[in-house]
Amino acid sequence: MTFQGQISGYADPALHAQGLYIGGRWEAGTGIPVYNPATGDILAEVPDAAVDDALRAVDAAAAAAAKWRATPPRQRSEILRRWYQLMAEHAEELAMLIALENGKALPDARGEVAYAAEFFRWYAEEATRIPGEFRHTPSGSHQILVDHEPIGISVLITPWNFPAAMATRKIGPALAAGCTVILKPASETPLTAYAMARLGEEAGVPAGVVNVLTTRNPAAVTNAMLADPRVRKLSFTGSTGVGRGLLAEAAKTVVSCSMELGGNAPFLVFDDADLNAALDGAMVAKMRNAGEACTAANRFYVQAGIHDAFVKGLTERMANLKMGPGYDAATQCGPMITQKAVRKIDQLVTDAIKLGARATTGGAPLEGTGYFYPPTVLENVPVDAAIAAEEIFGPVAPVYRFETEAEAIQLANDTEYGLAAYIYTADLKRAMRVGKGIETGMLGINRGLMSDPAAPFGGVKQSGLGREGGVTGILEFMEAKYYAVEF
Ligand code: NAD
Repeated sequence: MTFQGQISGYADPALHAQGLYIGGRWEAGTGIPVYNPATGDILAEVPDAAVDDALRAVDAAAAAAAKWRATPPRQRSEILRRWYQLMAEHAEELAMLIALENGKALPDARGEVAYAAEFFRWYAEEATRIPGEFRHTPSGSHQILVDHEPIGISVLITPWNFPAAMATRKIGPALAAGCTVILKPASETPLTAYAMARLGEEAGVPAGVVNVLTTRNPAAVTNAMLADPRVRKLSFTGSTGVGRGLLAEAAKTVVSCSMELGGNAPFLVFDDADLNAALDGAMVAKMRNAGEACTAANRFYVQAGIHDAFVKGLTERMANLKMGPGYDAATQCGPMITQKAVRKIDQLVTDAIKLGARATTGGAPLEGTGYFYPPTVLENVPVDAAIAAEEIFGPVAPVYRFETEAEAIQLANDTEYGLAAYIYTADLKRAMRVGKGIETGMLGINRGLMSDPAAPFGGVKQSGLGREGGVTGILEFMEAKYYAVEF
């Protein structure tokens, strides 16, 4: 890996990783440029792993597996705890790295590092509390003893939008459970993953327990790993389209899959909501990571009585955000990840405007260097515009008007996704009633941020399978084994 230009001025040299990380060794290489989305400049180049490299990573994970699963939970816990500590000590450098390669504003990057590190702390604690079960059969014939064993070698695939947190949300529970892993981060943001692997090494993660590789050919590399009978788990976070393909591939060898896929979160505001609280929540739910979040509010449904005030307030707040490179201290809204992402947002907005929507602020990409799209509010959006069906993944807030509770629930559920939803109302009874009616894995009630390492994160419908975080997250990396015991 080579580092160029401004990255060496920002990032801690201790975090400059050397290349593919396989079996505890760093293997230098090139082939994948990493861009600064604020300028389009190349920040660094990382290795392009081939299928053979990936299979060597499986060999390394297999060689380390028996010893790691036999390592006492307390020791596994202490290694994760040290890794948490090291992330906390290097928080500022990691945040800068994320701001550089992903583009998000520094406060968001700092928030991500804190959130990411918490998964190591949480699973350091959970490693020592792996549940079991003992029961008598109803017939009295024998006893049921249930143990949980590590599921085995796990392939972890992560997206670019949370380069640290999506990795720790998988590595933490996998290591706590006793599994060895191969992490394949997104090619857009590999530097954070490699930097974290460096810290893992320092924390005492044994060679082969965590392997990291980047590739230009994720399909070939992943398919080869899934075809290897030693691999027993795929934990994927990314788009629903890629997830569907991976589920089909994993079916060939019946590999257990956890899938954290796309979202299309509705954000419901009822007439009785506290307007300022709803606006504050809307800004968090929409603008964390400039809208590049799977939980991002994608559709604002606002009841007729509060609609105009909400649009006015949201427009003012969005128009006041300062845009710029994520790593500039004053920036509140950084660039999008790629020019392609800007084009997709532009298409969705242009199409909505053609169908009758009106931009009260923003509405067109910024000219000049970098991949910038301005904070945008759209009102009068037809409910059947493409922007209501697709993940926007950018700083655009389409607002729709509704009249009745039943209509709001029907609109909220009119999507193939079911990851996150938000409700603002002063009536808790209504919040719970509407919440029950919404098909979602997570619901924010009078709150624009729901992610928490101690809570189960995940979706229903085509937003995914399984949950990450919380007390159940570790079980995604374990198999129940039932002993029928007679004594
Ligand atoms: P993506 O699906 O394009 O890529 C995700 C990862 O999969 C990357 O590492 C990529 O290299 C890899 N990949 C791509 N094609 C592959 C293939 N054929 N085989 C194996 N791996 C492949 O998604 P993205 O653009 O990086 O991320 C944005 C998406 O992720 C959005 O849809 C967002 O909602 C979703 N996301 C979901 C969650 C969640 O927890 N549900 C969290 C963050 C992001």
